[in-house]
Amino acid sequence: MSSRSSSFLDNNKIKIEKKQCQIDQHQKNDNFYCHSCKVLVCSSCKKKQHRDHFIDKLDNVYQEILKTLSTFTTGMLDWKQYQQREKHINELIFQQDVQQHYDGQINLISQLFRQLHDTLHVKEVELKKELKSYYDDSLEHYTTLISELEDQNCKIHVI
Ligand SMILES: [Zn+2]
Ligand SMILES: [Zn+2]
Repeated sequence: MSSRSSSFLDNNKIKIEKKQCQIDQHQKNDNFYCHSCKVLVCSSCKKKQHRDHFIDKLDNVYQEILKTLSTFTTGMLDWKQYQQREKHINELIFQQDVQQHYDGQINLISQLFRQLHDTLHVKEVELKKELKSYYDDSLEHYTTLISELEDQNCKIHVI
């Protein structure tokens, strides 16, 4: 009885072992990853089709992926900080160089035109004053002439 039973089990075992692992179906539940073939393998096919390949426990592979993701996320954060710093520096440069230069030029133009306005106003007053003195002279001359003419006219009338 015992020998028959053992023989039956042995036969079944052989059958199972002959069964090949499929890419998505394995004989054993334990999970490994074959880096050489880039597929999941179990301890059974690990010993056969992937005998001399670079095999790793799936947990280790997950840990590696998580580590890579974490490094990537940190890198992204660093890049974001770098961009923000660059933006801030550019704003400062704009404020210091462009804005200050522009404000300075605007002030200079205002100052120059204020001086020009003042100078022109002084010239305007001077010219009007000079013209007024000519006018006054002419008026005086005219008045004198008229008065002399009237005087002469009177004399002629008397004669
Ligand atoms: Zn397998
Ligand atoms: Zn392999």
